[in-house]
Amino acid sequence: MWHVTLKRTACVKLAIPDDRRDDLKRTMLTFRRVAQRFADRGWERDEDGYVITSRTRLQSLVYKQVREDTGLHSDLCIGAVNLATDSLRSAVERMKAGKNAGRPTFTAPTVEYNTNAISYFTNGDDQYCTLATYGGRIRAEFVYPPDEDCPQAQYLNSDVWEPKGATLHYDRDDGEYYLHVTVERDEPETELGEAENGTVLGVDLGVENIAVTSTGTFYSGGLFNHRRDEYERIRGSLQQIGTESAHRTIEQMGNRERRWNNDVLHRISKGLVQEAITHDCSTIAFEDLTDIRERMPGAKKFHGWAFRRLYEYVEYKAAEFGIRTKQVDPAYTSQRCSKCGTTLRENRTSQADFCCLKCGYEVHADYNAAKNVATKLLRSGQKSPVGGATNQLALKSGTLNGSGDFSPANAEA
Ligand SMILES: [Zn+2]
Repeated sequence: MWHVTLKRTACVKLAIPDDRRDDLKRTMLTFRRVAQRFADRGWERDEDGYVITSRTRLQSLVYKQVREDTGLHSDLCIGAVNLATDSLRSAVERMKAGKNAGRPTFTAPTVEYNTNAISYFTNGDDQYCTLATYGGRIRAEFVYPPDEDCPQAQYLNSDVWEPKGATLHYDRDDGEYYLHVTVERDEPETELGEAENGTVLGVDLGVENIAVTSTGTFYSGGLFNHRRDEYERIRGSLQQIGTESAHRTIEQMGNRERRWNNDVLHRISKGLVQEAITHDCSTIAFEDLTDIRERMPGAKKFHGWAFRRLYEYVEYKAAEFGIRTKQVDPAYTSQRCSKCGTTLRENRTSQADFCCLKCGYEVHADYNAAKNVATKLLRSGQKSPVGGATNQLALKSGTLNGSGDFSPANAEA
């Protein structure tokens, strides 16, 4: 069986003991200087005249001298080499693409910690990490946000997600340190065909309706969009005032908006997972979230954020019930007739209306798309050589399998 490694980033605030803040600050400043030295050396070119983009080459040239000069922890030096080579590589990529590229410079207050330079202690009530710094390891408690459902925090608490390396960030605005931890989970890559009962819940995302399911549940985006517009309007006029107190108000409003948005997305995600449980679904299918904002008319940056956040919430909550979450290629999901399969641009008659030119099926466009999202996943599963399973799509009134056979629900709809 194949395995895929899923990666996420968990963010958590750290409580740094007062008497160690200087050590950490010195470590951060030195890390940045060291990364810069590696990058400068790489940019000077190798004997062959090319920018150095090989970690081992760069390390062999500068590492020993850097260690002697700075005494920076060896694993942090490795982190600095990695950061420098990554930046050199992307500079070379840009040059190859004919774009402007200059010598990489590091100004952000960050430190790259590999798994030798950081340890995590997340099993007991006390959750913390230890970080390599000047003056020995620092013990830093995790400060979780009050929202207990925060997915970022849950990744760290979890038994299935394993914390790996991390990037330490210093926030110049609030003077606090934040840790961005890469967490990983191995998941067996079972084709849908191997699932015993592969009922799929399809979800269509949008601006007018934030989410619509193949079982016919609509989560309106109206309140969201209205509140968002109102917020943007007030923020705009406060920005024009431009005083310090206006900026403070903007910040407070921003925090309140974030909490409110998160809360709404939480409730929608709970609803979606509940929907999947009710219909005995093994998988929840979304369209691919990459570039979703560019594909979607009327979507703002906020929507891109909200869709990703919603997906994270659903993925996390669904996993607790053994339900998987997948993304499928969104091509033609809005133009295909979910009844007869005819795909025509003209089928989509307006933002909300779908009417099939071939079979005359009239239905809400988002509901039609949600069914197509689920069907896409079913079809991809049917290519599995294992086969034989009863893969089907959850509908308001029953289930539909990949070959188009309909079974009414047991309960009266
Ligand atoms: Zn049709």
